[in-house]
Amino acid sequence: MSDLPLIVAMETHDIRFPTSLELDGSDAMNPDPDYSAAYVVLRTDSGVDGHGFAFTIGRGNEVQTAAIAALEPYVVGRRPEDLGALYKEMVHDSQLRWLGPEKGVMHMAISAVVNALWDLKAKIEGKPLWLLLGEMSPEELVSLVDFRYLGDALTPGQALEILRRAEPGRAERIARLKAEGYPAYTTSPGWLGYDDDKLRRLCREAIADGFTQIKLKVGADLADDVRRMRIAREVCGPDFRIAIDANQRWDVGTAITWVNALKEYEPYWIEEPTSPDDVLGHATIARALAPVKVATGEHVQNRVIFKQMLQAGSMSVLQIDAARVGGVNENIAILLLAARFGVPVCPHAGGVGLCELVQHLAMFDYVAVSGSRRDRVIEYVDHLHEHFADPVVIENGRYLAPLAPGFSAAMHPESISAYAYPGGRVWAEETVRGGVA
Ligand SMILES: [Mg+2]
Repeated sequence: MSDLPLIVAMETHDIRFPTSLELDGSDAMNPDPDYSAAYVVLRTDSGVDGHGFAFTIGRGNEVQTAAIAALEPYVVGRRPEDLGALYKEMVHDSQLRWLGPEKGVMHMAISAVVNALWDLKAKIEGKPLWLLLGEMSPEELVSLVDFRYLGDALTPGQALEILRRAEPGRAERIARLKAEGYPAYTTSPGWLGYDDDKLRRLCREAIADGFTQIKLKVGADLADDVRRMRIAREVCGPDFRIAIDANQRWDVGTAITWVNALKEYEPYWIEEPTSPDDVLGHATIARALAPVKVATGEHVQNRVIFKQMLQAGSMSVLQIDAARVGGVNENIAILLLAARFGVPVCPHAGGVGLCELVQHLAMFDYVAVSGSRRDRVIEYVDHLHEHFADPVVIENGRYLAPLAPGFSAAMHPESISAYAYPGGRVWAEETVRGGVA
């Protein structure tokens, strides 16, 4: 009989932050997001809890929360033993699978639950998740991955080879992470809703804070983008990396024309130029715009699309998201694919809690998969960290390695109750004021 705790209950919460009031997070496709979490807590008989969530931007968060609740039979009454097997059971549920397969709301729900299981497991082991994973044997890590549909690009044998190659330097890289952290870039200056003065001020602040890369949202109005890009380049100087992000706004041809119009200001990458499903469109854009890099991934629905994009040369920067694909397990597969194709991973973050989660995956990648921080940066957005029990710590443009046990996923209980939608205190006040509710 296992001595691991028994999961005795699953709670779900629809949590929403009224961020649309400040235009934080405004981009060409998402002008008024209310950053939200479909949040799950796994309660155990030992008092240790596992926390996880899917990130959404407001309406529909109740649908996402209901999808998580549908997974209750997979976890209640179980122990967090073999998380490779448990993940595969959920992904291959013969009836739930119809809702995807392996994409969209149900897949994001699996992500939330899988991540909550990892939060629980890491707390039980007394380690931050990145270190727990970074100390697992290559064989254990391979057992966490679902290789179905990957065989033409990555076999278990090839994955083992990648992991074994990185094994000798693990201890040294763990020490370096603890001492130096992991490089970050900031998206805070670049939201579309900000005026030019705010852009200028935030660019200066980003440099003063030690960041070596920023990102601007583009794609709503070309003349505005040219002006904002010129301002950013003036303030940041010639050798500073400025990425741009269109949030899926364009057709393939428009993407090429638009980015060409910004080329004199040397954008480092163009992110999400078009539909995240358009594998070949991204490849066309990448060929037309080189040496500007194409970056995508935050809306790529699973490892199969990532595989195709790597095979087709659609991306030269791969942006994993901690809470869209099937959680930690599927992200390990994607990190292995990226290593196999030699493409750097620069995780998507921001929203609510995505920085907290994804730092663990990037650090694990550095320790045990790619073994490199070269050309790799984690997105950083300075929003909503105060709601988390173990918030990210940024110093001199770097994420410091989290040391508390777990996946840094847990929100403060007061935040969970105050921002509960629609009944929490904050939303009741908004309704009274005639605000966004
Ligand atoms: Mg983006």
